[in-house]
Amino acid sequence: MAVSGPEYERFGGNTTCFYAEVEPNHFLVVDAGTGLRQLQHRITDRNVPLRFSLFLTHYHWDHIQGMPMFSPLYSPENRVDIWGPPLEGRDPEETLCTVMCRPWWPVALIDVPAQLRIRPLEDCVDVGPVRVTHAELNHPGGVVGYRLEGNHTVVIATDQECGDAEADERLVKLAHRADVLIYDGQYTPEERRGPRRGWGHSDWEGAVRISHAAKVGRLVLTSHDPDRTDDQVTAIRAAARMGFPVVDAAHEGMRIPL
Ligand SMILES: [Zn+2]
Repeated sequence: MAVSGPEYERFGGNTTCFYAEVEPNHFLVVDAGTGLRQLQHRITDRNVPLRFSLFLTHYHWDHIQGMPMFSPLYSPENRVDIWGPPLEGRDPEETLCTVMCRPWWPVALIDVPAQLRIRPLEDCVDVGPVRVTHAELNHPGGVVGYRLEGNHTVVIATDQECGDAEADERLVKLAHRADVLIYDGQYTPEERRGPRRGWGHSDWEGAVRISHAAKVGRLVLTSHDPDRTDDQVTAIRAAARMGFPVVDAAHEGMRIPL
């Protein structure tokens, strides 16, 4: 859930969206949470055709909710390519078109003016100079994590419950020697081992363990629990820093220099 209020000013705000401008006016985007609108705010002054290569990790609301109000979809000169994993027996086009249509939204996704293509995820997709690969991780209904590899490497695993040996192994391999691992730190260790077991999210302990195993350079905790205040996220980050040298907690508008 997007959150606002004085207790959430440092780490609160929108739901998941990451982007990189991989070529002039070509944006590689991972997930389309409400943060997608922050991207659109940053490019409103560009009066040229824009291109977006959007990769979805899965289709839970917090990862797609920014899409209906993403203004570049409503300009015919823009090109938007969407890739996502087939999950729950549906391909991504069917899944997305099922939720972005009347009566849930006045404009159906298939009718937006932009040049739109929605495709099932391929093993390897080249987006300008960046190669995108993925691995299936552990989350109810399925999810993938992405490896974005160019001159530097960033791995994004927003929703993954650690503790499944095979999924952990796939993630360690995906994140091997990445400069940055952006990883699910939603719960405390007590929550993950207790009442939240099976809910599909990790904690800072799992994040630290996987970061060491994959030999990543920097860990960024994300997918904060929406009920977690700024002070509580700060405490989680401090705990993680005891176990791994470079740890940040993702926040609204965060920039990651590479
Ligand atoms: Zn999810």
